[in-house]
Amino acid sequence: MKTGKIVKVSGPLIIAEGMADSKMYDVVHVSDKKLIGEIIELRGDRASIQVYEETSGLGPGEGVYSTGEPLSVELAPGLIEGIYDGIQRPLSRLREMAGDRIERGVYLPAVDHEKKWEFKPCVSAGTRVSAGAVLGTVQENELILHKIMVPNGVEGAVKEIKSGAFTVDETVAVVACADGDRQLTMLQKWPVRRGRPYLEKMAPVEPLITGQRVIDTLFPIAKGGVAAVPGPFGSGKTVVQHQLAKWADADIIVYVGCGERGNEMTDVLNEFPALTDPRSGQPLMKRTVLIANTSDMPVAAREASIYTGITIAEYFRDMGYSVAIMADSTSRWAEALREMSGRLEEMPGEEGYPAYLSSRLAEFYERAGKVKVLGQPDTEGAITAIGAVSPPGGDLSEPVSQATLRIVKVFWGLSASLAYKRHFPAVDWLTSYSLYADRLSDWYGEHVSDNWVSLRGACMRILQEEAQLNEIVRLVGMDALSPANRLTMETAKSIREDYLHQNAFHEVDTYSSLKKQEYMLRCILEFDRLANEALDKNVDIEDILELPIREQIGRAKYIPESDMNRFELLLGEIKKQILALDDQGGEF
Ligand code: ADP
Ligand code: MG
Repeated sequence: MKTGKIVKVSGPLIIAEGMADSKMYDVVHVSDKKLIGEIIELRGDRASIQVYEETSGLGPGEGVYSTGEPLSVELAPGLIEGIYDGIQRPLSRLREMAGDRIERGVYLPAVDHEKKWEFKPCVSAGTRVSAGAVLGTVQENELILHKIMVPNGVEGAVKEIKSGAFTVDETVAVVACADGDRQLTMLQKWPVRRGRPYLEKMAPVEPLITGQRVIDTLFPIAKGGVAAVPGPFGSGKTVVQHQLAKWADADIIVYVGCGERGNEMTDVLNEFPALTDPRSGQPLMKRTVLIANTSDMPVAAREASIYTGITIAEYFRDMGYSVAIMADSTSRWAEALREMSGRLEEMPGEEGYPAYLSSRLAEFYERAGKVKVLGQPDTEGAITAIGAVSPPGGDLSEPVSQATLRIVKVFWGLSASLAYKRHFPAVDWLTSYSLYADRLSDWYGEHVSDNWVSLRGACMRILQEEAQLNEIVRLVGMDALSPANRLTMETAKSIREDYLHQNAFHEVDTYSSLKKQEYMLRCILEFDRLANEALDKNVDIEDILELPIREQIGRAKYIPESDMNRFELLLGEIKKQILALDDQGGEF
């Protein structure tokens, strides 16, 4: 069906006339090459269309064919381990088919439509079902049980339910709805720009444990929470995102690499499939969906990529999973938005970004959260969303950073100077924050230790005292500090270097359980407490600082998880060495 014709081509944007029968956000096929596009503005019969593929060679007069459907993703078994572009075209299979430069107009479905999956029903004929209810399951791989759910808009009694091996196009159930029988397959489609419905949003009360000490201890994120990682080039945003993908205790990872330099994304495409899931020993890809839109791929598909990603995340959330979605980087996404807006000749806002930048960002992050899922009583799912932000020059006053900060509840600010000193992760403890920290206290108290909140508080307090003392030192020199102040400076240094500093590439240090985090902190703070007591008894600060135990505290990060009892020995040794000083001194 031909609906209109091109009147103008401007990079990824084309203007077409004769489009009166179309709707806003309809997907269209442009020219006989069938390039995929989406209507992003409609005035009378004139449509502005963003095209997800290279538009060179297109010209006025060529046809535009409307599909009458919004930009949607395919949701079905086969999604996991998928590597997609921003509009869910399977990159790996496209590459097999067409080589490195993906040809235009090539269409391949997102999931394999030939493959048969073993469907195990979990309802019987006669059961009343509605949207979201689970009809059966498919063991997608060793790690993921894929629930086959009733699609939106279907409600009624199950008339027939099958069991056995089916493709995603074959009927597995028939539901008698008010308006007639509906044949259901294992495939659902969902328009990416609309959030999938849920029953009820809930307050996030459980942490997403990441094994990254500065995050879990100081700036925790809740399951269902939203966080931003802003930082200049080279400050470690991508490493943080990778560490979270690898270690966070989420069931499913959706990783959206948008718009970073071509080779960096190639790194993701090469690196991710090589990563091992530490929990299962299986490849991490077995619980991951990758979406990649490098800077050398069409800009419009980058704009769509975060919606494609979060829709896939919602689908797994609806199965009751805890999903983590990472977007690296939302700044590159915003630049795509700006470029399209510029071509539409919209009124530019700050720094050329469209006025709707913040509402679009909010729409993305609002789709995160912990929810009671639709159609499955007592099932909860969560999406935790973590966006990297790469402000030019690291200056957070720019619009994308500002808009993001108004939305997210956790801010892991990466600092250029920490990265320069090779303090990684370069999370600035003085400017970062987590608005979940208080709410998660109960959880930590219950699951880790009653001490957790006070350990965390002491840690924060000492770091802040250090910042103030640094000011004094800067003005009048180190000699002006009292022994107690000097001890505080040393303890702060120990917190920074022995605790917060964490090498992502060291096999033991890369992950610390909460138990280990608690032990490590206790060692540092126990040393501080006993040393302060010793100072009160006039022990010389120099003698305290020379104690050999300090070096052991510094190496505690390399104690493997299987050796936690070594921390008890360490705690004992700390006490012994400091008390011994006290006895020697004797003169007080
Ligand atoms: P960005 O994405 O902000 O440009 P990257 O994440 O690529 O920065 O990090 C740049 C480099 O910093 C990495 O290649 C690595 O050498 C170092 N780095 C970052 N974080 C860590 C970490 N946690 N442990 C060790 N090295 C790190
Ligand atoms: Mg990066």
